[in-house]
Amino acid sequence: MDGSVLIVGASVAGVGVLNELRRLGFNGQITLVDSDPEYPYDRPPLSKSVLTGDPSIDGVLLHQRPHYDGLKAKIIRASSAIRLDGERREVELDSGARISADFIVIATGSRARPFLADGAQGLVLTLRSYCDAMRLRALLQPRISVAIVGGGFIGAEVASSVRAIGADATIIERDPLPLERVLGTTVARRVASLHEAAGVVQVCDTGVERIRQMLSGRQYLELANGTSIEADVVVAGLGNIPNVEWAAGSGVEIDNGIFCDGSGRTRMPGIYAAGDVARWQSHDGGHARRHEHWTAAREQARIVAHAIAGAEPEKAWGAFLPYFWSDLHGRRLQALGRTSGIDDVRLAFENPDKGSFLYEYYEAGNLAGVAGIGVAGKITRYNHVLTDVGEGARTKIEETVN
Ligand SMILES: Cc1cc2nc3c(=O)[nH]c(=O)nc-3n(C[C@H](O)[C@H](O)[C@H](O)COP(=O)(O)OP(=O)(O)OC[C@H]3O[C@@H](n4cnc5c(N)ncnc54)[C@H](O)[C@@H]3O)c2cc1C
Repeated sequence: MDGSVLIVGASVAGVGVLNELRRLGFNGQITLVDSDPEYPYDRPPLSKSVLTGDPSIDGVLLHQRPHYDGLKAKIIRASSAIRLDGERREVELDSGARISADFIVIATGSRARPFLADGAQGLVLTLRSYCDAMRLRALLQPRISVAIVGGGFIGAEVASSVRAIGADATIIERDPLPLERVLGTTVARRVASLHEAAGVVQVCDTGVERIRQMLSGRQYLELANGTSIEADVVVAGLGNIPNVEWAAGSGVEIDNGIFCDGSGRTRMPGIYAAGDVARWQSHDGGHARRHEHWTAAREQARIVAHAIAGAEPEKAWGAFLPYFWSDLHGRRLQALGRTSGIDDVRLAFENPDKGSFLYEYYEAGNLAGVAGIGVAGKITRYNHVLTDVGEGARTKIEETVN
């Protein structure tokens, strides 16, 4: 297997394609390009250990540097793709260089959605890159107050890290409960209780309208419900925007991400997409969506590498169960399968002494997903149950939980 592959974006998805191609015996030239000046690193620690513990870049690298030499991969760092010519399979970089390849993988991920309320420019931090994390870390100190706009996963993890270093954290969330849209009301309530027990203040059902810097240097946040909050630092966790602009006009279909089939193929031959930037078609022809979680990026990378190498993946996209984790106040929250938009949620396990619990989500009487805190072993075992929800599944579920 040879030919040349150009991977644009070198993070979980991009580096995953590289690793898998070499594992499959692909001998051709592989080049990775990334805007970030650092060697490829992992993002989950940026809102966790990088804020509270070891901030060194070495601690978050996906691989140590010799790994890339070992795989005979060329990495071009601090260089952005600015244009994609889909017909010629050629990428133009901001340096003016042009690279063409037999296969191109779009793995440019996403960027944090900026906070655009009145007066907020420059005052509100976001968290996506190592550089962002270091900027925030430099401002965090015990006893300061941090306002977090948006109670999704990034907001929740920042709140948890802020409390861990002994500062005050206030989450401002538009929905009635943080994480309600991804976990449903029952489990979102349990997560809200965890925040509360850790001392995080949650101001829900309202948004931030305006931010002003006070003479003291502190920030004054005016909320839509007429109240206000003062804070030393403001962080926004408002979701992400896919990095697609550089591929506009290339012939690939762009609509809230790069549209792909269930193997990561775009409609331009030889051009694939994987990870947060990609909107993959679901296996059953249903709704195509972006999966903005680490495990989905890694799985998509694996499948794209197989498609490029002309090999059949051991596990197709259709067999993949959505999975995510988050670390909050020293506990691990995990969810597997479908957990949003489902009302039938049943408590399957609870250990009040350890603060651990597990809920099952049922759709039309069938198990569709699970979510819980402090139940890592049990969640993993549901992998088998959720891929086999036919006859006998209930017995398996009981065996899994007990
Ligand atoms: C702070 C934080 C914490 C997270 N925690 C968790 C967690 O606990 N659990 C979980 O499941 N997921 C978590 N995630 C999500 C997870 O990290 C992402 O799903 C994953 O990083 C997606 O990988 P990716 O390779 O698709 O994209 P990205 O990681 O976004 O990487 C894309 C790369 O492309 C580069 N790039 C962008 N545009 C260009 C361009 N024009 N030219 C060249 N290069 C470009 C970027 O510099 C970047 O390195 C977290 C994310 C963040 C930010």
